[in-house]
Amino acid sequence: MHDPFASDPDRTVDTAVLLAAVDDIASTVADDVGSLEILRHLLLATTRVLQVDGAGVLVPGGTGGTLQVALASSGPVEELERLQEELQEGPCHATYVSGQPLNLGDVVVEGSWPGYQGAAALLDLHAVATMPLTSRGETFGVMDVYRSATGRFSEAEMAALATLARLASTHLAVDHDRAKASLAQRELARQAMHDPLTGLIVRWVLLEQLQHVLSRMTRHPESIAVLFIDLDGLKYVNDTVGHLAGDALLRTCADRFRAALREGDLLARFGGDEFVVLLERLGHRDEAVAVATRILEELLEPVRIDGRDVQPSVSIGVAVTDDPQATPEALISHADSAMYRAKHIGPGRYAVFDPDVYAADRTRHERRELLLSQLRQALPTDQLEVHYQPIVDESFAFERDGATGTIYAVEALARWRHPSRGLLTASAFVDTAIRSGFITDIGRHLLTAACRQLATWDDLFGAQAPPRLFFNVSPPELTWPGLADAVGRILADQGIAPQRLTIEITENGLFSKPQATARNLDELRDLGAELAIDDFGTGYSSLSRLVEIPARTLKVDQAFTHDLLAHAEARAVVTTVLLLGHNLRRTVVIEGVETGEQRQALLELGATHLQGNYLCAPRSGGALTAALREGWGERVR
Ligand code: C2E
Ligand code: MG
Ligand code: MG
Repeated sequence: MHDPFASDPDRTVDTAVLLAAVDDIASTVADDVGSLEILRHLLLATTRVLQVDGAGVLVPGGTGGTLQVALASSGPVEELERLQEELQEGPCHATYVSGQPLNLGDVVVEGSWPGYQGAAALLDLHAVATMPLTSRGETFGVMDVYRSATGRFSEAEMAALATLARLASTHLAVDHDRAKASLAQRELARQAMHDPLTGLIVRWVLLEQLQHVLSRMTRHPESIAVLFIDLDGLKYVNDTVGHLAGDALLRTCADRFRAALREGDLLARFGGDEFVVLLERLGHRDEAVAVATRILEELLEPVRIDGRDVQPSVSIGVAVTDDPQATPEALISHADSAMYRAKHIGPGRYAVFDPDVYAADRTRHERRELLLSQLRQALPTDQLEVHYQPIVDESFAFERDGATGTIYAVEALARWRHPSRGLLTASAFVDTAIRSGFITDIGRHLLTAACRQLATWDDLFGAQAPPRLFFNVSPPELTWPGLADAVGRILADQGIAPQRLTIEITENGLFSKPQATARNLDELRDLGAELAIDDFGTGYSSLSRLVEIPARTLKVDQAFTHDLLAHAEARAVVTTVLLLGHNLRRTVVIEGVETGEQRQALLELGATHLQGNYLCAPRSGGALTAALREGWGERVR
């Protein structure tokens, strides 16, 4: 039976033309031209190889994966393709759904797409072949070719069409991967440049931009400013309300900073609770101050977190420069040091960088660093020693006609025999030792020395030896988990009964890391040691908390003794503490007695235990031994 649509057996494919077409499409991958360009090459190559009257490509797009015309050769094919898109029916759709090519001798009579077929008849297009554009299971679209003559495409033609389509599809897949890769690359870059929590740029991006602006300034002079913002109290919110609340606080503050800035100002999250603003093209340095003021104003409103109001507060340091030789690091460091100045003045303040102040800060910092490195050497080379200051019990002073008291205890005070600076008192280096964490090592060393000295006095003086040792422990030592163990071991090694030891802690020490501190205090008391609150009256506790404080002894700070004769308030504090202390059966020691008048006044107020240079200044173990030999008690005036 004769098939009216059979393909023309003479239709073959010119191999040279086909090879040229393959080359043409292959070039698209090297040139990285993009998917539309690949399709255009495919379309042109195919029309040339198959000598058709038109061709088109439909690609999925839009909603629901409907097909859209990506390209069509001009003329009637264009209209037919558009009709396929509009009706969402036709040979391309059939191929798209089935994934199979079609080869129709006359589309006007084969198929069941009445709208499309009517148009094909009008446009006088009959033979049509479709080829899916698929690669690695992904369908990039469908290509169709048309002839106005009837008759199916020959096997050779279909093979050529399939070859070209496969080649183009492979390239489309590569291009797709490339696009995905560059998208991923962009996203990675975006992530690396931005802080995920606040969406602000991160440290290095700001530093890069700052470097860029500074280089620009060598050519075009301008003034710029760096604002260093430190958010106060983030740790407090994290610790008390939780980290989610801390995150919310950070986000809100970042938004408010942004609201205070001008368009084009750069805001970066620099670290945990640190932010940096870069202001370019300043008309005047006051503009930077105005921005700082606006930021502070933005923060006046409390932030509502988790149903409660949190009052955010920041300290801002401002550094302005028009010097293109400045480095980003120096500018940031200037703004940072100004920020510390601001923090020092109080929360919610700003300060502008001042080179003189900076130089002074630096010198102080360098001196502290030097001291620390020397301090590290002090311990192994035995430069640290203990001096002792008696605490005198004057309970019976009046009965004995004010002539004498007895030694109630000695307080151990750290001293450093510095190789070039001579003997340093504790106030010259204890803070540095505390800040460096070095104090625990020093503390153990000094307690050992003090206990050894106490044992020596026991041997020398028997019942007349100082009965107790008061030993200072700083807040970080107090949170060190090994403290009570170490103290117990040292006491045992030196043969000193723990009941003879009083650990001096400050009120502030009681409240830092309360849990760790409380455990140590319990363990020390279990050991048998007593506690004293040192510098009482200068810390957080109020008189009403006296009752809760687990200390046997209160040491009233020397500031009150100093003001005693001149200020009624100081007298009132001393009187009240004595009264309360004695009622609560605490031993109250008054520190810093420097004159006979002070001593007299204190005794009249009811003080019993005194300490100070008037009675006896701190002195070495050897010097105190000598004093004790000579009957120290009688020397006290
Ligand atoms: P603190 O425990 O309140 O010690 C009293 C300080 O006042 C000592 O200063 C002492 O020399 C001084 N002082 C004594 N009598 C008078 C006086 O009549 N007038 C005046 N103006 N001052 C007097 P120092 O030795 O410089 O110690 C300062 C602080 O360093 C101590 O204050 C204590 O908190 C700390 N400290 C001392 N030794 C150690 C130690 O071994 N470990 C730790 N963690 N801290 C220590
Ligand atoms: Mg003390
Ligand atoms: Mg004190």
